[in-house]
Amino acid sequence: MSEIRAMGEIASGALKPLVLVVEDEAALLTMLRYNLEKQGFRVEEAADGEEAMTRIAETMPDLVLLDWMLPMMSGIEVCRQIRRRTMTRELPVIMLTARTEEQDTVRGLNVGADDYITKPFSMAALLARIRALLRRSGAVPAKGELRFGDITLDLAQHRTSRNGRAVHLGPTEFRLLEFLMQHPRRVFSREELLDAVWGQGIHVEPRTVDVHIRRLRRAINGAGERDVVRTVRAAGYALDTEQA
Ligand code: CA
Repeated sequence: MSEIRAMGEIASGALKPLVLVVEDEAALLTMLRYNLEKQGFRVEEAADGEEAMTRIAETMPDLVLLDWMLPMMSGIEVCRQIRRRTMTRELPVIMLTARTEEQDTVRGLNVGADDYITKPFSMAALLARIRALLRRSGAVPAKGELRFGDITLDLAQHRTSRNGRAVHLGPTEFRLLEFLMQHPRRVFSREELLDAVWGQGIHVEPRTVDVHIRRLRRAINGAGERDVVRTVRAAGYALDTEQA
């Protein structure tokens, strides 16, 4: 059981979690950055929703602290967009809200916020929420090392190995494996994999996914090694060691 629990965990503990703070009030932003950095987090900032989406794509934060009231695009809309994209679907989001109406909170949670905190809040309470959520999510950093069973993916050096043996992957296979390793055991349809690995709005035949999965299998599964890619009929693929 312990072996299974260890799978998919991040091996490098040295990286500080990255928090993206989306807030248009400069004073609050400064206060949040100061306190978060003091507590050992890295901080990125965005002052509006559009900037937030750009920052998320560029930096892949571990958690987003999202203000409800933002100019132009509301926090709710930002949250909805985060949940709509495959790559950010599971990105932890805490909403900051000045409103106390029960209904608004419910709306926030309905569009997929993981948690919310009402202004004014104490920094201690916010930090507790952030830590709890990061623990639940496993805080997958964008850089570092991913592990699944005997497979290691070095994101900084773009190297893959299995059982200590170097595995040579093409760029698409590498991204495909990286994505599957970030979500071990979850089944993804061909369309979801296309969105996540090839990018949204790119017209590639779903069959292309099969071709790259085949290449990935050929490279990663050595002689006598277990196939780690599970084909789920009529559903898609998952990274798994238990064959169906
Ligand atoms: Ca605001």
